[in-house]
Parts: sequence; structure tokens; C-alpha cells
Amino acid sequence: MHDSYELQQETVSEAEAYDAIILGAGISGLVAASVLVRQGNRRLAVVDEYENIGGNHIDWSANGFTFDVGSLVFQDDSPLLRHFPELLEHYIHIHPTWGRLNPQRKVTRYPISVADDILRAGPLVICRIALSVIHARLWRGQLRNAKDFATFWIGSYLLKRSGLENYMARFYGLPPEHIDLELAEKRMMWIKEHSSLRSLLKKMRQKKLPHMQNKQLARPKAGYAALYEPARRGLAENGVTFRLGTQISKVEKDEQHFIVIPAHGERIAAKRMISTVPINIAHQLCGLSQEKPLKTITLISLYFSFSGDRGFAQSILYNFSYEAAWKRLTIYSDFYGRTDGREYFAVEVVSNDTITSIELAEAEFRTHVAGNNIFTGDLRLEGGQILENAYPIYTHGAPAEAARQIERLKQFGIESFGRHGAFNYQPTARVSTLEAEWALGYRHPEPASDAPNRERHDKRLELIPCESG
Ligand SMILES: Cc1cc2nc3c(=O)[nH]c(=O)nc-3n(C[C@H](O)[C@H](O)[C@H](O)COP(=O)(O)OP(=O)(O)OC[C@H]3O[C@@H](n4cnc5c(N)ncnc54)[C@H](O)[C@@H]3O)c2cc1C
Repeated sequence: MHDSYELQQETVSEAEAYDAIILGAGISGLVAASVLVRQGNRRLAVVDEYENIGGNHIDWSANGFTFDVGSLVFQDDSPLLRHFPELLEHYIHIHPTWGRLNPQRKVTRYPISVADDILRAGPLVICRIALSVIHARLWRGQLRNAKDFATFWIGSYLLKRSGLENYMARFYGLPPEHIDLELAEKRMMWIKEHSSLRSLLKKMRQKKLPHMQNKQLARPKAGYAALYEPARRGLAENGVTFRLGTQISKVEKDEQHFIVIPAHGERIAAKRMISTVPINIAHQLCGLSQEKPLKTITLISLYFSFSGDRGFAQSILYNFSYEAAWKRLTIYSDFYGRTDGREYFAVEVVSNDTITSIELAEAEFRTHVAGNNIFTGDLRLEGGQILENAYPIYTHGAPAEAARQIERLKQFGIESFGRHGAFNYQPTARVSTLEAEWALGYRHPEPASDAPNRERHDKRLELIPCESG
């Protein structure tokens, strides 16, 4: 019997002792479990309040329609598949295309169209764009926030005219002048890449890259539970116990162990605790005071079916217009086929002071699309969902505050990482996997043939933020 188990029996009756407890069964928690198994741990517990694993990979189905909470696209060269290769056969292969509704009411290229946003705008607009870029480059002050960063690269006129400024506000839940510069430098390098003279010249000299070899994937029509079940089974066979649908009341600590006390049922204990749940929640559970709670986005998802003329061909459409809180929509019938002849799609709406419910979000979306001549026909709301803690909001100083709070959890003995556990905007399961591996000091013995493909893919992610949540 394990030493910690013996000790546990003395100090915490009724409790089982695990090598480690992982809070959260999202991608970060699942990869953490896989890594810990590979590192020799034999008894692990993964605890989550959701009934299913996969975290915020959430689907919703009714009346033959099937939707995701947001635009969730995966790739067949994802490092997640090195942990769970058994998932690959369950995805479906899709061919998504991305577009953007611009402030001039046109559906065009995402994230920016040189033809529509610049060249076809006429000589006056071209001159204004050029002057504004020259002004921004010559009179560069200190870059303090995301707006300064974007202005420096494309000028204030194009930033406004392209709708990028509005999209940033929608996406991050804050006006860009309030978004931390660190995030801009981390996640918006594509602006720099598209607009610096040196990179443009480099691109012109470069031979065309071979076509991306990875496949775009979506979950099976049956949903995420069906997709992730083989991963759950594989981990369970290797000593991982899943405690799903568990409301945790608190986490206590004695000299040797962390003890998770659920609202109902048995408590469990382990020498090691890993948290991938939001930092705010980890603090509350451990009874640690938090002077400044970290802010997160609440996402409202609207699920529509539609019959008529949708007005554009792309399967994923971003809202860069000046109005409305919806940020992106995904036409799921392009991936799974129509139901009873109807198309269907999910709309992601970032909740704000005025858009606080499904009804308000729906009303605003309907008005907005009618004004932009898209979805002309019979638009029917099939359902909706509200997801709290969808992703972090990077107000000024938030990353530094998050680092302090993670350090506090570390002092308490908890290793915290993941999209919420590190307050780190991880756009994809790919990034979550790599960061979980890194946090646990694990290097996957990767086959050499995979390396160039991955490098190319990661580069694309930086350039085109289309696969992000
Ligand atoms: C709208 C949206 C779109 C996305 N699009 C893509 C995409 O196109 N491609 C892609 O690869 N990835 C996408 N992602 C997300 C990306 O996969 C994330 O990087 C990943 O989901 C983060 O995983 P995580 O485990 O860190 O966090 P999460 O998935 O958020 O998991 C955290 C877990 O903690 C649990 N938890 C929280 N509080 C408690 C508590 N008190 N007690 C117990 N458990 C708790 C939650 O239930 C959840 O299961 C998207 C995500 C969203 C939300």
C-alpha cells in the first residue's frame, strides 16, 4: 500500500489518498492526467463540476440540430493527439472558410482585405490610410495598450475603418485602450506581420510555402461526450478516477495532504494538487482571500436554424461592424448537413452591461443582421446557453495580478495552469496541451517528421487568429 495512503488513514478517516488530485477535466486537466500517468503516478483523481469531460468544449443539440458553444475547430496534427491518439477516428473532417462582416456592410476577407478595405475604397481613403500610418510611425509615443500597438502598425484611420478596433473591444470585452499591452504583443503579432515593410518584402522574396498539410476537424455529430469517451476510458485503465458532476465545498490542507471536500459524497486526499479551474474559484475553495478578483468574459451562445438566403458563403463569420455585441457565428450545417432542409448556426455574443440575457442578445442580433442584409428569410431560435468564465479579460495590470495570485496558490502548494488556472488566453487545445506539458516539465518524445508541420501551423496561428476561442 502507498505510504501516503497509510498516513491518510490516520489523519483523514474516510478519505482515499491519491498520488495527485487534478481540479478540472478540460483539455488542461486531461493532459495533466496523461502526463502524470506517463511520469509514473498510479492513482490519480480528476474532479469536475461538469457531468462530462472536455471542459468548455460544450455542445447542444435539439430537434436534429447540433451546435457548439463557440467556433471549435481542431487539427489532426494537434499535440493533444499524442496523448489521446484514439480520438482521431472520432472527429469529422471539415473544410471551414472564414469571413468578416465589415463596417461598410460587406462580407469580405478575414481579418483584413487589402482589396475591399484599402484599394477599392478610392484614392481619398487610400491617402488617409497612408497619412495615418506615416503619422503613427513617425510620432510614436510609448506603447501602453492594445490600441497603441494596433495604431502603430496600421494607423488609427484603418484601425477604425476596418472595424478591427470594434472587433477587439467585442472580443476582449474592453475598449482596446484598456487592454493590457502584454496581451497585444502576445496575441496580435499578425498585425505586425501583415504591416511591417520588412515582413512584406520578406514575403515577396519567399517561395510559396507548401500547402498546409493538416486537416481541419470538428467533433462528431454525437457530441463531445462521444469524442472524449475513449480518452476517459484510456485514462481510467491507467489508474485515473473521474469524479464528475462534483460540487466542491472546500479544499483543506493538513501537514501532508490536500483534502477535497465535496458538497455530497466522499472526500478525497492526495499529496499533490493541480488546479486548472479559474484562479478566483481556487482561491475561494482554499479559503484564501483575494483583494482583486480577476475578470472573465461571460459568453452567450444563440442557436438558430434558418431557411432563406444567408447572404454569404463562408462557414465562420466575424462581426467587425460598428454595432452589436455578437462577435462570431459558425454555420454548423456546413459541417454536419442541413436538418429538414434548414441551415443552422451558433452565434457567440460577449455579454456586456446591456446584453445580459439570451432574449436581449437574440433581439439585438436579429436587428443587426436585418440591417446588414444577411439571413434574409425564416430565422428561428432553437435555444441558447450562457457560459461564465469563457475566457480571461486582460485589463491593465491583470497579467501581473494573476501572476501574484498563482504564486499565492503555489505557496499554498497548488500548481495552477490552463486557460483559467494560468489566466492565460489559450486559443486552442493545441496551446493548452503544450502549456500543460511545459508546466509539468514534460517533453513528449515527438517523431521528427511532425516537427516542420507543427512549426508551420503554429506560425499560421499567430498570423491568423481564426482558430481561437
Ligand atoms: C467559445 C470557445 C471557442 C473555442 N474554440 C476553440 C477552437 O476552435 N479550437 C481549439 O482547439 N480550442 C478552442 N477553444 C478552447 C481551447 O480548447 C482552450 O484552450 C481549452 O478548452 C482550455 O482548456 P482548460 O482545460 O484549460 O479549461 P476549460 O476547458 O475551461 O476547463 C476548466 C474545467 O474546470 C472546471 N471547473 C471550473 N470550476 C470548477 C469547480 N468549482 N469545481 C470543479 N470543476 C470546476 C470546468 O467545469 C471545466 O471543465 C475554445 C474555447 C471556447 C470557450
